[in-house]
Amino acid sequence: MTVADSSDGPDATVGSGAIPEPEFAESTGSSEDTGRSERTRSTAGAASAEGQLDPSRLPGDAEVEASLRPRTLSEFVGQVRVREQLELVLSAAKLRGAVPDHILLAGPPGLGKTSLAMIIAAELGAAIRLTSGPALERAGDLAAMLSNLVEGDVLFIDEIHRIARPAEEMLYLAMEDFRVDVMVGKGPGATSIPLEIAPFTLVGATTRSGQLTSPLRDRFGFTAHMEFYSPAELLKVIIRSAGILGIALPPDAGAEIAKRSRGTPRIANRLLRRVRDFAEVRAGGVANLAVARAALKVYDVDELGLDRLDRAVLTALCKSFGGGPVGLTTLAVAVGEEPTTVEEVCEPFLVRLGMLARTPRGRIATPLAWSHLGLDPRSGVAFTGVLFDDDE
Ligand code: ADP
Repeated sequence: MTVADSSDGPDATVGSGAIPEPEFAESTGSSEDTGRSERTRSTAGAASAEGQLDPSRLPGDAEVEASLRPRTLSEFVGQVRVREQLELVLSAAKLRGAVPDHILLAGPPGLGKTSLAMIIAAELGAAIRLTSGPALERAGDLAAMLSNLVEGDVLFIDEIHRIARPAEEMLYLAMEDFRVDVMVGKGPGATSIPLEIAPFTLVGATTRSGQLTSPLRDRFGFTAHMEFYSPAELLKVIIRSAGILGIALPPDAGAEIAKRSRGTPRIANRLLRRVRDFAEVRAGGVANLAVARAALKVYDVDELGLDRLDRAVLTALCKSFGGGPVGLTTLAVAVGEEPTTVEEVCEPFLVRLGMLARTPRGRIATPLAWSHLGLDPRSGVAFTGVLFDDDE
C-alpha cells in the first residue's frame, strides 16, 4: 500500500486500502474560473462564523475529513439509489473481469463524491490516482498521468467541468479507446505519436454537471446524481463521526446538529467539531443538547441552518425592499457582499428552503422568509416598487 509522492505533480496515487486525504493541486490564474464558493466568499469565510456553513472544503477540513471518510459502500450513509446503482456497475464489472465503465458523480459540494470515488477504487481492489480539473491546465499534464496508469486503476478528476480544453480533448480518446496522441515538437515539424494506455476507470466529480460539454458527458457510462441528505441520515453521519472522534454525544444533541447542517455531511461534521470545541472550553467536556444549542448560537447557525449572511440577505430583502422583487447586485450591495457570494453561497439554500425565489423581475421573499424573521409582510415595508439591476 504505497502512497506516491505527489508534491511535484498535479496528482496523488493511493494504493487500495490506504486512503490519505487528497490534496488537489490547483492553478490560480484562470480568468474563466467559475470555481466553488470558497473563492467567492469575500469575507474570508474560513475565519468567519458563517464559513462554518460553506459546503466547500475549507482549510482545516482536510486532516479531520481523512479520518471521518467512510471506507466501504456499506459504511457510506444515505444515497440509497446511487449506492445500489454503483453496486450493480461494480459487481457486473467484477463478474466480467473487465474494468467498469467511466463514472460521473454529480452534485453539490460536501455530499461525498470524493469519498465515493475512493470507495469505488477500494471495492475494485484498485489503486486510485487523484487530480482535479483546474490542475490539468495542459494536455501534457494529463498525458503524463494517463501514461503512468496501471491496468484497472481508477483515475479521479474532481471538478472535471473546469478541465482545460486541450486536456479535455485528450481525455475523449483516452476514455473511448485507451489511447492518447502526444504531440512532439512545435510548428511544421510537430508530429503526433499515438500512445497506448492501460484500461482504467475514470471517475469524474462535478458540482456543475450543466457545465460539462456533451462529448465529455456522453463518454461516461454511468452518472450518479447525489442528493442532499435527510436529517435522519445526517444524524447517522454525526453519530458515526462522534464515535470516531471520541465525543460522547446524546442523540438529541446529534439531531440538533443534523437539523442545522443544510443536508450536507461536510457541514454536519464541521458543526460537530465546533460543538466539541465549545463543550471542551466552556462545558467541562459535556456535549449535550443545551451545549449544542449554545455552541451553534455562538457560530450564528440558526435552527434551520441559516447563518448571519443568509439572514442579512432575507432581512434586507424584506425590510429594505418590501420583499422584492429586487436585483441581485442591489441586494448584494445592501448586505455588503459580492453578488457571486450571495448568488452561489446563500441563494441555493434559501431557494431550497422555499424562502427566496428568483424571478425574471428579481429576487423575492416568500411568506416563509417573513415568518422566519418574525416580520409581518404588511408592516415595516420601506419600499414597494420594483428595482432592476443593469445586469438583469
Ligand atoms: P465532496 O467530494 O462531494 O465535496 P467528500 O467526499 O469530500 O465530499 O465528503 C466530505 C466529508 O463528508 C467526508 O470527509 C466524509 O467524512 C463526509 N461524508 C460525505 N458523505 C458521507 C456519507 N455518505 N457517509 C458518511 N460520511 C460522509
